[in-house]
Amino acid sequence: MSKLKEEYDLFQEEKQRWLSKPMARKYFLNQEERYMHPFRIFGNVWYVGDSWVCVHLIDTGDGLLLLDGGNSGATAMLVNAIWEAGFKPADVKWMVISHGHLDHIGSAMFFKRMFGTKLYLGEPDARDFREHPELSLIQDAGLLYDDVFDVDYEIKDGDLIRFGNTEIQFYLVPGHTHGVISAFFDVSDGNQTLRAGYFGGFGFNTMQKDFLLDIGDTSFETRKIYLDSLAKVRDQKVELFLGNHCVNNRTLEKASMVKNGCKDNPFINNTEWREYLDQKRDEMLRMLADPAQN
Ligand SMILES: [Zn+2]
Repeated sequence: MSKLKEEYDLFQEEKQRWLSKPMARKYFLNQEERYMHPFRIFGNVWYVGDSWVCVHLIDTGDGLLLLDGGNSGATAMLVNAIWEAGFKPADVKWMVISHGHLDHIGSAMFFKRMFGTKLYLGEPDARDFREHPELSLIQDAGLLYDDVFDVDYEIKDGDLIRFGNTEIQFYLVPGHTHGVISAFFDVSDGNQTLRAGYFGGFGFNTMQKDFLLDIGDTSFETRKIYLDSLAKVRDQKVELFLGNHCVNNRTLEKASMVKNGCKDNPFINNTEWREYLDQKRDEMLRMLADPAQN
């Protein structure tokens, strides 16, 4: 057998091994079943994500900004959604990544290579990419993700950054990962201006007992840090709560209301942000009191 053929067979063997991993099947195949038709949420903010992981597009008047990069394996769908919304993927100047997990960085390197898109990520997650790439969980994406990457800008707590006509106030809200970001910015539609709020990572999967013990957090400090993060941004004024995953702000339900031509915009709500953060706080308090998790 030629060396070339031997290498090819080995590659196929490795590929099958990865693709047969349960995680890879569960989260990262059948992406086409998650496609959502893009729609305008309010003003210059569009939804271009799938039915599980949110991606928002902001038309800043001086290029497009993507808030998150979508799931591993979902890049073709994201590109299609941007086209379908009436924009050009090549105009994506900036990608602000909520946190450094495989289901939010799927298209990051594609956009950077194809269009020179500048990648933004919380500073602690950028550091984890260098020092603890395993925390990105890209190993769970099998062959659908290649590797972690260097970002163009590492977001610091309190950064105020202008992108075209949109100025975004950032705060770090660690817990779900070390470098989760939150973002707050004004969105205008006609003469109405609303404050949008985004919390870039609520999931408890990385705060389970076994996970924390495995990464060396034996006193479960991470859970207290998460509670502090919720409290830190709870009282921000938010009239337009953008989800990180669809479950956060019931994106799917609201999308179908928009599609059915409802009179009031279901995304406009000045209590939902606080209520959801309080709900996550209460869930975390229950976790802290759960003997099985301690
Ligand atoms: Zn995550």
